[in-house]
Amino acid sequence: MKFHVLTLFPEMVMQGLNTSIIGRALENKLIDINAVNIRDYTQDKHGKVDDYTYGGGAGMLMQAQPVFDAWQAVCGEKKVRTIYVTPQGKPFSQAEALDLAKEKELVFLCGHYEGIDERVLEEVVTDYISIGDYVLTGGELPAMVMIDAISRLVPGVLNNDASAHTESFHNDLLEYPQYSRPEEWHGKRVPQVLLSGNHTKINEWRLEHSKERTKRVRPDLYEKYLQKESLIKSLAKNKRSNIHMMESLSRGRAEIIYAKGKDILLYDRACQVCMLSAESPESGEVLIQKVPSGTSLAVTSQEFLNEMLVECLGFQIYHECYQACYTKREPLPVKNKDIRVLTMDSYEYVLQNYHTEATDYIRERIQSKYLYGAYRDEQLVGFVGEHDDGSMGMLFVEEAYRGQGIGTSLEAYLINRQREAGYIPYAHIIKGNASSMRLQERLGLYMSKDTVWWVGK
Ligand code: SAM
Repeated sequence: MKFHVLTLFPEMVMQGLNTSIIGRALENKLIDINAVNIRDYTQDKHGKVDDYTYGGGAGMLMQAQPVFDAWQAVCGEKKVRTIYVTPQGKPFSQAEALDLAKEKELVFLCGHYEGIDERVLEEVVTDYISIGDYVLTGGELPAMVMIDAISRLVPGVLNNDASAHTESFHNDLLEYPQYSRPEEWHGKRVPQVLLSGNHTKINEWRLEHSKERTKRVRPDLYEKYLQKESLIKSLAKNKRSNIHMMESLSRGRAEIIYAKGKDILLYDRACQVCMLSAESPESGEVLIQKVPSGTSLAVTSQEFLNEMLVECLGFQIYHECYQACYTKREPLPVKNKDIRVLTMDSYEYVLQNYHTEATDYIRERIQSKYLYGAYRDEQLVGFVGEHDDGSMGMLFVEEAYRGQGIGTSLEAYLINRQREAGYIPYAHIIKGNASSMRLQERLGLYMSKDTVWWVGK
């Protein structure tokens, strides 16, 4: 991911970001930061970039010309999302960071003095974002704050990518208290449950403490959390058919765009997928109007919604799927013991065997550590993965190794992993894929009676 920062103080940006985790990400070329000095583009012979504001008022204003020329030197004819960091923007949040982390390139425009001439903002800026309700002297710190928050969501930047999914805000809850060694310090002991090794109990304890802390410190966030919980409860009445929406909500991925009775529209920011379920064609019409612009992928629960999406948004229908979910409490036995998280060394192997043109997707899944390989005598013989919507899939076992329980082991391994994370593991099974159906049933997953459709453009 590439960040361009248009600033009067490029050295401040580079020095501020070139340490620790972000410094390492720069070194490993997972991200790139190009700090551009706006002053280099002024046509004023004294190097001036600011002037008085028309109509009077305190302070100086950055002029349009140098800002525009610096922006053009970076973007040319390319359409790159350009963020003006400003106290007048919409508040920055973890959800916003997730959204921006999907871009390949971003431009940050840092103001100084009283800000920037409105005319150039109108021409180049796509997003106005504030990092909080206070006024700083310049946009460099806000740009750095945002680059830090976005970069740690770029696959591979954190050693343990899962940590980005369990932290504060991921589920409208603040993070629970955490402890490290020693077990006792200043007479205070680490809570016993955290030493128990019982992941179910640990997850329960963490959730309880997250809720308590959020309710006390951020009642606004807690309200949002409660709204999601109540929707999950109502979806659970038909768990197998609604599992994709339930899990997307409970894993802190989906935002509720609309929810009234059986009419539901969710937007999963992490994978930019809409989920729609409507009681009737009439209410379906209402939902379709609310689909965020730019949505190119959706999961629908009723066939009549597909017709509307095809007609109104130019979508096409990709797959009709059953949903299978694992709701038992017990972990599954994993016969094949040698299962490992795949690295980019296996990228070509996965591409060759999981027939897809979406090479970027496979790279992202591997870098985010969501693909797992089964080995026999140090040789990779199959893999399974977690899709970006959180469902399990991508199962492959080499022909010569089929019928030996490797596929079962791979999926059982992933099911156990997801259960430990507090999830309900689920998969989408394309209608007609009898062998996959048999595998799911053998493992004890329950099949939905209804189907969902993947639609998009
Ligand atoms: N006159 C401006 C106003 O009242 O909104 C404030 C200008 S401020 C002194 C200078 C620059 O710092 C802004 O142009 C902006 O780029 C940046 N800045 C200051 N506070 C910010 C915040 N809370 N979020 C994002 N950027 C901020």
